[in-house]
Amino acid sequence: MAPYLGDFRGRRSGDALAVLLPASTAEAAAAVASVTSRGLPVFPQGGNTGLCYGAVPRGGVVIGLKRMRGVRQADIHSGLLTVDAGMTLAEVHVEAEKLGLQFPLYLGSEGTAQIGGLISTNAGGTGVLRYGAMRDLIAGVELVLADGRVLSDLGGLRKNNTGYSMSQLVAGAEGTLGVVTAAVLRLAPRMQSRAHAWLGFEHVEPALEVATRIRASFGTLAEAIELIDRNEASYVSRHFPDIRMPLSALPDWSLMIELASPRSDDILLPPLEELLAGAMEEGLIADAVIAQNEAQAREIWHFRHSVTEANKLTGVGVVLDTSVRPSEIAGFIADADRVAAERFPQAERAIVAHLADGNVHYILMFPHEIWAAYPDKEARELDVETAIHDVAIAHGGSFSAEHGIGRKLTEEMTRLIDPVRLDLMRGIKDAFDPKGLMNPGVLLAQTDRA
Ligand SMILES: Cc1cc2nc3c(=O)[nH]c(=O)nc-3n(C[C@H](O)[C@H](O)[C@H](O)COP(=O)(O)OP(=O)(O)OC[C@H]3O[C@@H](n4cnc5c(N)ncnc54)[C@H](O)[C@@H]3O)c2cc1C
Repeated sequence: MAPYLGDFRGRRSGDALAVLLPASTAEAAAAVASVTSRGLPVFPQGGNTGLCYGAVPRGGVVIGLKRMRGVRQADIHSGLLTVDAGMTLAEVHVEAEKLGLQFPLYLGSEGTAQIGGLISTNAGGTGVLRYGAMRDLIAGVELVLADGRVLSDLGGLRKNNTGYSMSQLVAGAEGTLGVVTAAVLRLAPRMQSRAHAWLGFEHVEPALEVATRIRASFGTLAEAIELIDRNEASYVSRHFPDIRMPLSALPDWSLMIELASPRSDDILLPPLEELLAGAMEEGLIADAVIAQNEAQAREIWHFRHSVTEANKLTGVGVVLDTSVRPSEIAGFIADADRVAAERFPQAERAIVAHLADGNVHYILMFPHEIWAAYPDKEARELDVETAIHDVAIAHGGSFSAEHGIGRKLTEEMTRLIDPVRLDLMRGIKDAFDPKGLMNPGVLLAQTDRA
């Protein structure tokens, strides 16, 4: 059972009485009912790639979905693909491509993360700017409730104003409302022409200004606008020297841009070049490379998607998943830097941000040996989190943009979320799961349910 008991980075481990791997909704429903009827908790698990320990069990029974990975319906006229929740994101990409379409969710764990897990964490990634997060990409889910009943909302209707949306409640519920066994996914046209650029900046503000101009000029053709700082880029260069960095030297701030159109005759490069030349003349951009072919474009995104692996090899990174309005990003980073320098001088700051979404992964990277010497690592992590979360909240932001709450941030939920909202969330949890047996201790602290 070992792979099911701990998180993939080896930071938290749990225990379970058994792991059940149903192969159908009926089996999943029978499995859940047989566990909960004995008063035992159920811990739903997908690919176990989540970053907040939400899939780590504490006693009870793990229900894993990896045997449920079929396509139920491919509906090209509606642009919908209905799949079992155990399908990985990479498998869904292949199925969408077979229809000549794409499923526009892109993140580094695509080979392992499953649709049920991606829905349950409302995952984001690099496509949120254009297509939204996972909750925007579903047209319905099928959910096994704690008592074994099955809620089927797989109609896939674009318009359906018949009260509360159950599927939208399930998105981001982190397994606390039931086990997602299937979903209707919204597909998007496949892109036929693309332009990619890597831009270097000395400061964050001009990067934000150029990102704003790109969005104003290209509208929905802007597919991704990603920001990383020099430290983060240096981790990737150090650990993956084969991945080429196209600029002459590592800039202080890098912006990676992708524009894409579903039309093959859409010419994206000349207006992009014009926009960038203007910004360079004004002194906003320090250095720039536009990908000249697909191989160069792939290199840019290979570099970007290697940050998580590079971080693991660099040290122990406490990764904050904050979001603020894009207009607040520079102020947030400056204030967080001041707090970090004062309170955590042992750590180096690195930044990976989905800039246009305002989602800043502010990372404090501790050298392995310094981290190893901390007697209470969980307390240290919490110190960092609370310090930087306070800065995000002061800038009107959120302490969890896309990774969710899991077991990691339940105390922060209690500390930082509006009590009225927290009360309503407890009520929703009670309506779905009155005995509190679905993923207890995740999302809402157990004491919150008193
Ligand atoms: C290299 C890497 C890069 C990543 N990049 C991003 C990124 O850019 N953006 C982003 O948002 N996230 C990112 N993530 C984290 C992302 O949240 C997870 O990859 C994914 O969303 C979780 O899917 P999973 O199947 O692994 O779920 P798990 O980790 O197994 O579970 C996550 C949560 O969902 C619940 N759950 C899982 N399956 C089900 C189900 N069928 N029914 C009910 N509940 C369920 C679990 O109980 C748990 O609470 C990254 C992770 C890695 C390892």
